[in-house]
Amino acid sequence: MSEIVIIGGGLAGLVAANRLLDEHNVTVVEKDDELGGMVQSYHVADYHIEKYYHHFFSSDTELKELIAELGLSARVQWVKGTTGYYWGGKAYPMNTPLEIVKFPPMSMWDIIRLGLLVLRTKFVRDVRSYDNIAAGEWILKTAGSGVYNNFFQPLLNSKFGSSSALVSAAWLVGRVKIRSNRGVEGERLGYMKGGFNHLITALVKSINEKGGRIITGNGAVEIVQAGGQVSGVKLNAGTLSCDTVISTVPPVTLASLVEPGTLEFDPTTVHYQGTCCALLGMSKPLMTDGTYWLNIKADVPFGALIEHTNFMPVSDYSGEHLLYIASYFQDHKDPLYTKDEAEVMKMFLEGLEKLYPGFDRSDVLWWELGRDALTAPVYETGYASRILPYKTNIDGLYQAGMFSKANYPERSMNGSIKAGYEAVDAIVRDE
Ligand SMILES: Cc1cc2nc3c(=O)[nH]c(=O)nc-3n(C[C@H](O)[C@H](O)[C@H](O)COP(=O)(O)OP(=O)(O)OC[C@H]3O[C@@H](n4cnc5c(N)ncnc54)[C@H](O)[C@@H]3O)c2cc1C
Repeated sequence: MSEIVIIGGGLAGLVAANRLLDEHNVTVVEKDDELGGMVQSYHVADYHIEKYYHHFFSSDTELKELIAELGLSARVQWVKGTTGYYWGGKAYPMNTPLEIVKFPPMSMWDIIRLGLLVLRTKFVRDVRSYDNIAAGEWILKTAGSGVYNNFFQPLLNSKFGSSSALVSAAWLVGRVKIRSNRGVEGERLGYMKGGFNHLITALVKSINEKGGRIITGNGAVEIVQAGGQVSGVKLNAGTLSCDTVISTVPPVTLASLVEPGTLEFDPTTVHYQGTCCALLGMSKPLMTDGTYWLNIKADVPFGALIEHTNFMPVSDYSGEHLLYIASYFQDHKDPLYTKDEAEVMKMFLEGLEKLYPGFDRSDVLWWELGRDALTAPVYETGYASRILPYKTNIDGLYQAGMFSKANYPERSMNGSIKAGYEAVDAIVRDE
């Protein structure tokens, strides 16, 4: 029976712990006070709501199976997630083919070319074959500048900012494939009634019942080795002895935990971007046409508005209307990361007023700002060849997370669950 320490209490770490506990002693260490990582929730009044907007897709097999295993299937709801595009001072619905045809910046020829591009992605068996092609170049070649400039370029820009030119067509084809699976009525997205907090809570309960240990608010600062083999994990407070470690933190963080030069991979080859996301509790809805997800092309410091209560009923949230203001940033010097929270909120609220002149700040009952510099790998061209293995070159050290194969070419809850399981499989194989 191995003594295993898992660094990181996000989904990858928690599912790996839950599975390994059947045969091993496991301790999960999490630096934050709360578990869940990117799926952490705020506890507001009498409800929970994710810090960052989340939903899932019907193709997320491992997530659906985990939900069932934990007895939570009754909470799953498949809801129409209506989308829109803010362009030229107005929000346009973009759910049905007819609505897309009416999107003003695109000519009929552009629409046909967009349709053909979408159709083409449906026949792509292995998105990996698009890994060495830049997304922008591929769109221009496949559908022309009208489709690129008026449809995809603003989306790429809002998702990847200054890194958008580097993003591979594998990422784009993967996204288009999954998002275009919607039928004439619009796509249905999965959500858990009451939030993904229920998933994290149920995982924690299962880990506790199996005799696992979870330490929060006490991060790993060093992975200790003896003779090239893992022998323990030093925490901010205390040290844990172990013979196996699964790291679920970003590669650059893992590199800071081991003796310099001992890892065979170069962690700087996997670039991460950060997220700055405000959540507003409001007395009134903002998007009164019922739009859940609005992509934005306008001079504002955010790329999307996600009105959660246009997706799930407002009655689940004590009658409060919940709006995410979402933005990604590429480096630590970005004002969205460096400015203090009140200044960022000021920028966001001014942006909202610009897009929706009727928006009244006094309708905002409360707000929270979630910021993290390492929230997603940037899927640059050639990324597939840089995917990190589950087993590292250090004996007893494994890794799983957003950077793993299971999360290529887009990270997701499902991908991190699968990555956690695949790291467990690698450990079991070595035993
Ligand atoms: C804005 C946003 C929106 C998203 N939307 C969706 C969505 O709609 N659908 C979907 O499926 N997925 C979505 N995702 C992705 C999904 O949340 C992630 O892929 C998944 O939760 C990552 O899980 P993980 O365990 O791999 O990593 P993480 O959740 O990042 O977990 C790693 C954990 O390690 C901890 N840690 C870091 N350093 C240390 C240390 N030194 N010691 C101890 N602990 C440490 C961190 O605090 C964290 O809790 C979204 C993510 C973001 C940021």
